[in-house]
Amino acid sequence: MDDKILQIDNLKKYFPLRNGLVVKAVDDVSLRLGVGETLGLVGESGSGKSTIAYVLIGMYEATSGKVFYKGEEILRNGLRRTLKQKSEIQIVFQDPGSSLNPKRTIRQSLSVPLRIHSRGSSNQSLNEQVDSLLEEVELPRDFADKYPTALGGGERQLVSVARALAANPSLIILDEPTSALDVSIQAKVISKLIDLQREKSLSYLFITHDLSLMRNVADRVAILYLGRLCEQAPAAEFFENPLHPYTKMLLSSIPVVTLEEENMKPAKIRSSGEIPSPVNVPPGCAFHMRCRDKMPVCELERPVMREVSRGHEVCCHLEI
Ligand code: SF4
Repeated sequence: MDDKILQIDNLKKYFPLRNGLVVKAVDDVSLRLGVGETLGLVGESGSGKSTIAYVLIGMYEATSGKVFYKGEEILRNGLRRTLKQKSEIQIVFQDPGSSLNPKRTIRQSLSVPLRIHSRGSSNQSLNEQVDSLLEEVELPRDFADKYPTALGGGERQLVSVARALAANPSLIILDEPTSALDVSIQAKVISKLIDLQREKSLSYLFITHDLSLMRNVADRVAILYLGRLCEQAPAAEFFENPLHPYTKMLLSSIPVVTLEEENMKPAKIRSSGEIPSPVNVPPGCAFHMRCRDKMPVCELERPVMREVSRGHEVCCHLEI
């Protein structure tokens, strides 16, 4: 991928605890995202996916690693971004109920980023810019004078998307943007996100626990387990030819719609064993306690990520 908007190299985020233990929330993760692409970053709760997002927006300080945005290094002794880079990298959080201020009308919430990032032409009033933002996410103009509590969950999330758009972004981090919504509302929000991506050439880092959602949304998929990457590949290759035992386990249990998808799914693999605590990640491969393909080496040596075909990387000791 030559036209990268985001490159993450060997990112680590450790949280030291008082008793001398360390939570390795993100442990040596490298990712690439192309311009106009969607990278689906998938993992169970506690896998570290949201921690990566929080490092990218400066909520957490990275322990080590490098981050490049449009070729410029933005993580150097802490996150260093120009105002333009800040405006170009936006985030939409999982819960719009808590990310929108309940005491502000939608107009007030949208006006804040509009004032900071001065989007639109100078002869367009702030109110006109708010109207056009609501139009972009297909919400009625009269929502501008409502409070978030007067809106449904999907509508609130579309307001959050409009707020991100107010800064004229190139890259939006979508942190579980639909997991708090009903399934029917989810489809509407996802479809709007896809339309906006096409219209504005946006790049999405789409963080989710829902692997099935990525089948129709992502260009590339990366799987995280206990802070480590297991596998990443172009989406079509990923769903047709999953290679890592953990990926196969996840894929074997997702619901599918068509017979073609059913035929592509790995045979049902029962999840065995508990997910280890992130405070006490086992030595060797972090997945070895649950892996039915485990070999003696897996308990001793941590596998390294290697490319097995163009763009398809797997972190496993198996001969693939
Ligand atoms: Fe399973 Fe070993 Fe591969 Fe880990 S390295 S996924 S334990 S086969």
